[in-house]
Amino acid sequence: MEKTDLRSMTPEELTAFLATLGQPAYRAKQIFSWVHQKHASDFSEMTDLPASLREILAEKCTVELPKILHLAASKQDETVKFLFELSDGNRIESVRMHYHYGDTLCISTQVGCNMGCAFCATGLSGKIRDLTAAEMLGQIEKAEEALSCHISHVVLMGMGEPLDNFGQVVRFLDLVSHPMGRNLTARHITLSTCGIVPKILALAEQKRQITLAVSLHAADNLRRSSLMPVNRRWELSELIPACKTYFEKTGRRVTFEYALIAGENDSSDEADRLIGLLKDFPCHVNLIPINPVEETGKKPPSKGVVKAFAARLEKGGISVTSRRTLGADIDAACGQLRRRKEQTDFV
Ligand code: SAH
Ligand code: SF4
Repeated sequence: MEKTDLRSMTPEELTAFLATLGQPAYRAKQIFSWVHQKHASDFSEMTDLPASLREILAEKCTVELPKILHLAASKQDETVKFLFELSDGNRIESVRMHYHYGDTLCISTQVGCNMGCAFCATGLSGKIRDLTAAEMLGQIEKAEEALSCHISHVVLMGMGEPLDNFGQVVRFLDLVSHPMGRNLTARHITLSTCGIVPKILALAEQKRQITLAVSLHAADNLRRSSLMPVNRRWELSELIPACKTYFEKTGRRVTFEYALIAGENDSSDEADRLIGLLKDFPCHVNLIPINPVEETGKKPPSKGVVKAFAARLEKGGISVTSRRTLGADIDAACGQLRRRKEQTDFV
């Protein structure tokens, strides 16, 4: 029998569940606090619960965390990549980045990804399954424990497409920012999507204060569709208005990720098209030279080309930054996370 996952439950759901075991509501509060504030991963740690209840819970339920199989620390910066094993043996990766304003964890939301972007290592083997909210929270718990650090910012930019796992991702957002739990401020959370329009609109309706990052990578449909199959389903004429709706509903400026690929989307014409696409829209563009993934054959442009592209956007009135690539020496940079079968794959 599959055990009930208590880490994925809201306090209200926990209360209802414990009522089925004849337990009063305050037990739910205690368990929620053990799991989300006191880092418990086993019922035996919950010393203020009666032993008999701990026994029943251990039999029927789980609060376990993913296992760290391996971690790799960058020699160039303070980036650390984690390889986790989930309870069913599947493996995922997360990345801790150290910034002047605090520690950020880039978490995975799925095992693999079905979106098939032409430049990304995660998509190469398709999606195996969605992660649960507990498995997303568990990446934070374990990273903090392993590095004795405090994760102050979370980006949903690891393996997987968060909006293709909408229910569990929203549950994760609720739990991670719950005042009785980790209480992470929504403004310290960024969700990155390849552009699943109906889900962007659904998220906008929730009016959360999280940052929405949209992976754009091209300003015309032909090129975007060749790089990102999702564009064949929802073209730019639908995607950009959905981003505008997100801004209108939440008041949060949308970030557009633009990975520059040598000879493909890095010309001054492409920069001009991007200016045309985003003009009159309070947003931000994050440029990033593509990170090499052997199987894709795509290469980053020279520093000069990146600079010129950024300068052209700026001149066109677009707010733009060029993102530093962190953890490149441990293949921890954007798009380099992949599903690993063997620990020996992990260098
Ligand atoms: N699925 C979501 C989030 C995970 S990917 C999304 O696509 O937005 C996180 C970011 O890495 C996205 O902006 C994605 O386009 C980018 N990315 C993927 N492969 C990359 C690569 N090889 N180099 C640079 N960025 C890449
Ligand atoms: Fe999936 Fe994002 Fe990679 Fe595209 S870039 S395949 S959406 S993880």
